[in-house]
Amino acid sequence: MKIAFFDTKPYDKVTFAPLAEKFGYEVTFFPERLTPQTASKAKGFDATCSFVNDEATAEAVQTLKDCGVKVMLLRCAGFDSVDLNKTKECGIPVLRVPSYSPDSVAEHAIALLQTVNRKTHLGFNRTRQFNFNIDGLMGVALVGKTAGVIGTGKIGKCAVNMLRGFGMKVIAYDAFPDKSSDIEYVTLDEVLTKSDVITLHCPLFPETKHMINKDSIAKMKDGVILINSSRGGLINTEDLLAAVKAGKFRGVGLDVCEKEHEYFFEDRSSITDKDPVLNELLQDDRVVMTGHQAFFTIEAMTAIAEVTLNNLKAFAEGAELVNEVK
Ligand code: NAD
Repeated sequence: MKIAFFDTKPYDKVTFAPLAEKFGYEVTFFPERLTPQTASKAKGFDATCSFVNDEATAEAVQTLKDCGVKVMLLRCAGFDSVDLNKTKECGIPVLRVPSYSPDSVAEHAIALLQTVNRKTHLGFNRTRQFNFNIDGLMGVALVGKTAGVIGTGKIGKCAVNMLRGFGMKVIAYDAFPDKSSDIEYVTLDEVLTKSDVITLHCPLFPETKHMINKDSIAKMKDGVILINSSRGGLINTEDLLAAVKAGKFRGVGLDVCEKEHEYFFEDRSSITDKDPVLNELLQDDRVVMTGHQAFFTIEAMTAIAEVTLNNLKAFAEGAELVNEVK
C-alpha cells in the first residue's frame, strides 16, 4: 500500500516512517495541507493520511477518487474536516483515531493551571536574566480549593483524578453525566459560581459554542483560574479579553483558540496583520497560551501512528473497520 501524508511536519515523519516500514507500507510526506488544489498529489497512492486542518471538501474528495485513492486515514479524532457525504458517494471509507492518551491532554491542562497559578513563566523569564526577585509571583495552594470540570469524558475524567491528587474538591457538569462514576455532578451554574479553577473538556458543538461568554464569566468568582485545552470556540475571545483586562482572573491557560485555523502549527512571528484581540490577550502576563500541543507526547504520537496504520491494515485485509467514521 502507498500512503500520501498531507500537512506533515518533521515529527510526523519521525513517528510514522519507521512504523510504516514495519507494516511494509510505502509513505510519501507532503508538507502541503490537503485541499482541492493539492489533492492531485495523491495520484498513484492507495491511501491518504490527513490531520485536523486539512480540507477534504467534496471537490478534494472527488479528485482523490479520480486519482485512485481507496481509503482516507485521519491521524486525529475529529472528522469535521471531511465531507462525509462525498466520501460515502465515492465509496471511500474514512478511518480515524478515536482516542489517544487522554492523560496527555489532561496533564497539559494541569501544566497550564500551575503555570498561571504559580507564575513559573514569569519566574523563568526573571531567573534567566539573573533576576531572583519573587515580588509579584505569589500563587495560591490548590489543596482544599474547588475545581469545576466541564465535560467528563475520557480527558475530563483524567483531569478529575489529577485535580483530586492536589487535594481539591472536584465538582463537574456534563450534559450526559456518567452515573456509574463517583464524580459529583452539579449544574453548569454551580460549576461557574463555586469553582476556584474551571477546566473545559467538552466538545465544540453549536450548543457549546461560546459557553464561556460575558454572562457566564460574570457568574464566576473573582480570581478564578480558567483553563481550556478542548476547543477555542467554547470561549468568546473578545469577552475573555475584556474580563482579563478588568482583572477578573487569577490566570487563564489556553491550548486552543477560536482563530487557531489561521495561525496554529506554523511560525507566524513575522506576520504584520496579527489578530488584535488575540495579540492583546497574549501580551497579558496572566494569560498563557500554547499552540494546540496538549496531545503532543511520545505516547500519544505513538498511539496515533499505531492506530492509523492498523486501520489501513484492517482495510487492506478486508477486516472489520472498527474506527470507520459512519
Ligand atoms: P469525550 O467524547 O470522551 O468526552 C466529551 C464529554 O463532553 C462527554 O462526557 C460528553 O457527554 C460531554 N458533553 C457533550 N456535550 C456537552 C455539553 N453540551 N456540555 C457539557 N458536556 C458535554 O471526548 P474527550 O476525548 O474527553 O475530548 C474532549 C475534547 O478535548 C474534545 O472534544 C476535543 O475538542 C479536545 N481535545 C483536545 C486536544 C488537544 O490537544 N488540545 C486533544 C484531544 C482532544
